[in-house]
Amino acid sequence: MPALLLSEQQIENLRSGTPLLWLNPAYGDRASAPARPEVEQMLAAEQRLARFAPLLAQLFPELAANQGLIESPLLTAPILHQTVNPLGGRTLIKADHALPVAGSIKARGGIHEVLCFAEQLALEHKLLSGTDDDYRKLRQEDARQLFSRYEVAVGSTGNLGLSIGIIGAALGFRATVHMSIDAKQWKKERLRKRGVQVVEHDADYGAAVAAGRAQSDADPYSYFVDDENSPRLFMGYAVAALRLKQQLAEQQIPVDADHPLFVYLPAGVGGAPGGITFGLKALFGEHVHCFFAEPVQAPCMLLGMAGAPGSEPLPVYDFGLQIDTDADGLAVGTASQWVCDTVRDQLSGVYTATDDSLYRQLLLLKQLESIEVEPSAAIGCLGPAMLNTTAGQQYIAHHQLADRLSQCSHLIWTTGGSFVPDSEYQGYLQKAIEKSNSKLS
Ligand SMILES: *Cc1c(COP(=O)(O)O)cnc(C)c1O
Repeated sequence: MPALLLSEQQIENLRSGTPLLWLNPAYGDRASAPARPEVEQMLAAEQRLARFAPLLAQLFPELAANQGLIESPLLTAPILHQTVNPLGGRTLIKADHALPVAGSIKARGGIHEVLCFAEQLALEHKLLSGTDDDYRKLRQEDARQLFSRYEVAVGSTGNLGLSIGIIGAALGFRATVHMSIDAKQWKKERLRKRGVQVVEHDADYGAAVAAGRAQSDADPYSYFVDDENSPRLFMGYAVAALRLKQQLAEQQIPVDADHPLFVYLPAGVGGAPGGITFGLKALFGEHVHCFFAEPVQAPCMLLGMAGAPGSEPLPVYDFGLQIDTDADGLAVGTASQWVCDTVRDQLSGVYTATDDSLYRQLLLLKQLESIEVEPSAAIGCLGPAMLNTTAGQQYIAHHQLADRLSQCSHLIWTTGGSFVPDSEYQGYLQKAIEKSNSKLS
């Protein structure tokens, strides 16, 4: 096995499915991140989303009130705080479970990438005179005809497929989504209702992406959204950091040396949490501390980040794991190498969690804050408790944060849930209640 920055004990925890907090030894070591893109690309993504906003407001009535911007609220969670945060300070929720249009964090990245492609086509074919033109023109017949000649395709465990399929179909593209075996039936049905072609693969996420990529590459009119290797997705996700900064300022929540910010991000292949980390680091530097969170059965980013720069991330299968998790949004076996090499020095650490603990957090979010999320999206709630472990205390001591804990903000990123059909959500809730009852007896 190639060298990994993991102790014997950590490897044992990975193999046995025991939760752990891994602190990133490369944190702050700029040389360990060979692939770092320019911050200007994030600003360009923000501007692109702004150019398309008037069009999006027409295509999606739910965006009208927000002038076509796809954004979620920043919530304070004083009640949840008392239960999940032993460190003190304050607990916040970035409510991407309620992100409009796609119902998950995938809305920003996925939609941004399809808009990049649409913009490029429209400019090439002179349907837009320039980037200062009125993008609402792209609803007209000539643009729709152009787009209908092209396909947008993607491989997904579900949520990225929803995002790409919905925006692709709304603009008039042919859309094809290659779903992995973990993908939920209701996500497939929702897409088919919109005219999206859903290809079901009897294999994991990596295999669905590979099959989709191969099929798309064979068709010159097909554009493949490559979740494992996409700066366009990444930069769309990064825009969330700019929006969060504004929301923090509006709510007069400082982030500086005296008021550090901890952020807990659910991670699958790494693009969404990686993009957000990249953005937050550009804006807040050493005052923000980003942690990824993964199911014990799918710690692919942990393995990727613990590997050597420029090396292929190891699959979780090498550790005897089977991606056996209800957190379908995070059910990924191998991390994106590009993301690992991009944020290797920016990520503070990664923690893992059991499905049982995800259900407990899902129940707490519902009972204490009336927030309904899918299991993947509950994992961030465990962040403050993981920072209170021996490893977490080490991190706090190393960064000399112990005397400022009462001034820290802990931000839980809830990444998906508002599209989950009620019957499906009731099933999650039932399972959560049964688990908590059996704990008590
Ligand atoms: C996709 C997803 C994530 C993680 O995003 P990656 O880019 O795969 O790391 C987190 N939560 C939910 C609900 C998701 O669908």
